[in-house]
Amino acid sequence: MTQLALRSIRKSYGALEVIRGVDLDVAEGEFVVFVGPSGCGKSTMLRMIAGLEDVTDGTIGIAGRDVTTTAPAKREIAMVFQSYALFPHMTVAENIGFGLKLSGLAKEEISRRVGDVATTLQIGPLLERFPRELSGGQRQRVAIGRAIIRQPKIFLFDEPLSNLDAGLRVQMRLEIARLHARLGATMIYVTHDQTEAMTLADRIVVFNKGKIEQVGAPMELYERPANTFVAGFIGAPS
Ligand code: ADP
Ligand code: MG
Repeated sequence: MTQLALRSIRKSYGALEVIRGVDLDVAEGEFVVFVGPSGCGKSTMLRMIAGLEDVTDGTIGIAGRDVTTTAPAKREIAMVFQSYALFPHMTVAENIGFGLKLSGLAKEEISRRVGDVATTLQIGPLLERFPRELSGGQRQRVAIGRAIIRQPKIFLFDEPLSNLDAGLRVQMRLEIARLHARLGATMIYVTHDQTEAMTLADRIVVFNKGKIEQVGAPMELYERPANTFVAGFIGAPS
């Protein structure tokens, strides 16, 4: 089943055309990775899917419903950024549960679900700590926890690991793969890290100047790149 349908998406900022006609179907449970040079529109595309930015033209469908003008909170999407943006004055448990508190869920139910999420991410012992007492990797796990707890249909990750050191990046990459296997959720993941793209993706989408150059399974792009741009981008050492 198609979980996300992008149809003829365009985005302009004044005279600057940033997204120039993007069509893409993402299947339920699929892990899709967006790659492409800096400034080609990857983050803008994610923000439009999340509803944090209006499309200039085109439509966005989620699970068969047109959400092009639907408010972010009603799209059943969660986004994880590279800057963790945790609330500094709240504990880990409060950070993770915050979104549910807003939705008016009972305290006991919130704390049960926070416990479940903490188990999944192996941060149970950290629940009473404050963000300043955590390492970068632990903070990123909390940020992911905040996304998971809302049980979204689609996860959007915008270079979530790029602020971490190399060793931690490998560890977190494996954790994200595990998370995907466990939740079976649809994930769209932006990265400039070749290894992340090649190992995480069911399909890679190569963007260039606001358009899709090629979409395919990692090996397909590697073995049969559509043009020299894709070949250069997929083949280049990161
Ligand atoms: P990427 O994530 O692929 O690096 P972005 O989506 O962040 O690219 O940006 C695509 C283009 O849109 C860039 O030229 C950027 O400067 C421009 N852009 C992004 N956000 C805005 C904005 N709010 N106003 C004007 N231009 C923007
Ligand atoms: Mg970006």
